[in-house]
Amino acid sequence: MNKLTLTRPDDWHLHLRDGEVLPDLVSHTARQFSRALVMPNLKPPVTTVQQAKQYQQRIIDAAKKAGYPNFLPLMTLYLTDKTLPSEVDLAVENGLVGVKLYPAGATTNSDAGVTNLQQCDATIARMAELGLALLVHGEVTHQGVDVFDREAVFIDEVLDPLRKRHPRLKVVFEHITTKQAVDYVEQASTTDQGQIAATITAHHLLYNRNAIFQGGIRPHYYCLPILKREVHRQALLSAATGGSKKFFLGTDSAPHAKHLKEHPCGCAGCFTAAQAIELYAQAFDSVGKIQQLEGFAAFHGADFYGLPRNQEQITIEKKTQKVPASYTMGKELLVPLNAEESLEWSFLG
Ligand SMILES: [Zn+2]
Repeated sequence: MNKLTLTRPDDWHLHLRDGEVLPDLVSHTARQFSRALVMPNLKPPVTTVQQAKQYQQRIIDAAKKAGYPNFLPLMTLYLTDKTLPSEVDLAVENGLVGVKLYPAGATTNSDAGVTNLQQCDATIARMAELGLALLVHGEVTHQGVDVFDREAVFIDEVLDPLRKRHPRLKVVFEHITTKQAVDYVEQASTTDQGQIAATITAHHLLYNRNAIFQGGIRPHYYCLPILKREVHRQALLSAATGGSKKFFLGTDSAPHAKHLKEHPCGCAGCFTAAQAIELYAQAFDSVGKIQQLEGFAAFHGADFYGLPRNQEQITIEKKTQKVPASYTMGKELLVPLNAEESLEWSFLG
C-alpha cells in the first residue's frame, strides 16, 4: 500500500499561542486537519468563556488570512481554583467542548493551574451534569516524585479518586505516555456519560526516552510528559493501533522559539503540527496497522465529543520527505521535531 485516502482528521490537543505568530502557526494545522481542540494555557490563561470566544475568533481570522477559511478551532477553558459552576453553564451554551485541568506547575504556563482539585468539586459536578468533558494533564507535580513516574502516580492519587467522586464525569486523559495509563483507560469502568478516553501524541508513539540523549542532549525531543521507556512506547502503540474507540489523535504540538528550546533551561514541547499525519502514519505503518489510522485520526475523537465526523478526505503517500530545518513564527524561528531528517510518508493534500 503506497497511497492512503482517509477522512480529514482532527487534532484533539493543540497549542497555538496568540498574537502575531497565530497565522504562521495555525496554517500548519489547518493544512492537514479540519478541526483542532485548542489548549487554553496562554499568558494569561483563557479562564472565561468570553476570553475563549474572543481567542476562537482570532484563530478563525488567522486561519482565513493563511488561506484556510474552513478550519474550525474548538475551545476549552482553563480550570483554576476559582472557576465557578456558572461558567460551566456558559461554556456549554457557547459551544466550548471541554475544561482543561493543569495541576499547578505541570507544564508551560500552568502556574495558574489547580492547587487542590477538591476545591473544584462543585464546578466539576456541574460539568458531569451537563456532559462537558474534563481534559486532564495527568501528572502530579510534587518534587518528591520522579519525573518519569508522575503520570503513574497521578492515576492513583488524583484521577481515580476524582472519577470515584464524579462517576458521571466525562474525562480525557491527555497525551498519555505510560503502560499504566493505557491499562487504566482500557480497564476503567464507564457509565454512559462517565466515559474516559485518552489522546496520544505522535512523538510518544515513535520515540522512547533514549531519543532525548542520542549522541548528546537533544532539546527538541524534550516534552512534558517526558518520553518514557520502550515498554511504555510499545503499550501506547498497541493502544493507538488496536482499534479501540477510547484512544484518539492529539498531537500536543507545542511551538517554542528555537532559542528557547536550545537554551540552558529549555522549554518543554515538540513542534509536530507541520508533519503530524505523516508522523502518525509512520508509527502505524511500523506495526503494519496503517488501516487503523483513519479511526484513530478522524473518527474516535469526534464520536467521543459527540461531534459530526468530517466529510472531506486527505491523501497520504509512502514517499520520503525531508523535514525543513526550521519554520518562521513571527520574528522567531521554530524548529520542528525531526528537523532535516527524512520521514517515510508524505501528505499530498
Ligand atoms: Zn499540551
